[in-house]
Amino acid sequence: MLNFDHAASTPVHPDVIRTISEVTEAHSGNPSSIHRGGQAASRLLERSREVCAAALGVQSAEIVFTSGATESNNLAVKGMLLGRVDGRRHIVTTQIEHASVYESCRQLESFGFEVTYVAPEADGTVRPERILGAVRKDTALVSVIHVNNETGAVQPVEEIGRQLKRRDARVRFHVDGVQGFGRLALGLNAAGIDLYSLSAHKIGGPRGVGLLVVRSGVRLFPLISGGTQESGLRAGTENVPSIVGAAKAFRLAAEGQPERAERMNLLREYAVREVRKHKALTLTEPAHPAPHIVHFTFPGLKSQVILHTLEELGVLVSAQSACSAKTEKPSRVLEAMGRDRAHATSGIRFSLGDGHTQEEIRLLSEALEQAVSRLAPFEGRKR
Ligand code: PMP
Repeated sequence: MLNFDHAASTPVHPDVIRTISEVTEAHSGNPSSIHRGGQAASRLLERSREVCAAALGVQSAEIVFTSGATESNNLAVKGMLLGRVDGRRHIVTTQIEHASVYESCRQLESFGFEVTYVAPEADGTVRPERILGAVRKDTALVSVIHVNNETGAVQPVEEIGRQLKRRDARVRFHVDGVQGFGRLALGLNAAGIDLYSLSAHKIGGPRGVGLLVVRSGVRLFPLISGGTQESGLRAGTENVPSIVGAAKAFRLAAEGQPERAERMNLLREYAVREVRKHKALTLTEPAHPAPHIVHFTFPGLKSQVILHTLEELGVLVSAQSACSAKTEKPSRVLEAMGRDRAHATSGIRFSLGDGHTQEEIRLLSEALEQAVSRLAPFEGRKR
């Protein structure tokens, strides 16, 4: 099977597997225990925090470990609004956020907070001036995804952050960095980012670990209470072996970023040329595409049908994002870009990973060609 679904999850890096297994065997202590076993685990935890901080150019006290980016995004968005004491009750976000930001905002609306969801342009990119134009006197938070997980459209978060901080430094800026980290360079300081969410399993780390960068001076209301772990922002015994493994994965991802981006961009261009050969397919073409995502639609067919046909041909891909893949509903992201129903229900995403080769893209192209010729006769029948 060829796995072209690395935006959903990546294989765990062999060094990370080794680290997790070694720490699991050697350290059974609870990092909150004050005896020797606990202190050894605590040192590993704090060392991991330093490793992540160095990879991100922040202080280690600014790293909060979580169970993944879904939790990080919930904590950033709800924690900010629930923790705000200055009466600011408005959020600006986009219509193309990951569900964990989008649904958190919807939930806050049901509690009486106000949210403006800014629409993207037709190519899937949100314009900074539209975000800035939505900011009000009572705006507490602006939350923008770095790379959209469905289309791969890179959002101008540096520009948004710079303009936002010039306009009103008391508006906090959250970036969901999950799909951008390790693939694109992003300086959190230069971009004025106050809160930054990451997930380990998208870059060779274990599933179920993530982090939220909370810059010093930023106050959040904890969503999980019952302990003083993670500076009181996230109660619960930390998963030390997985955190140590995740820290290694974050470090490796940051170190390899420029070379990875270059290699993936070449493979991406090859895959894009192959998609373009098929008249039945509509390539999604963001102004700035991420190096690892190729997205297209096959209007007249359902995403699931295309996905399963490719699977029969030996290729794993995604329809929409992994988190909403089981729904047959049109894609919220494609609809926000103004695509009609036929497009919004027929999206397919290829996503590249570290080990992919030109030969594998060639095999992917062959499978795509066979899928198109198998499915073209059915196009539009069950619209
Ligand atoms: N944000 C984005 C952009 C994502 O792609 C994902 C993973 N689908 C998440 C957040 C959630 O991450 P996790 O799987 O760690 O909860």
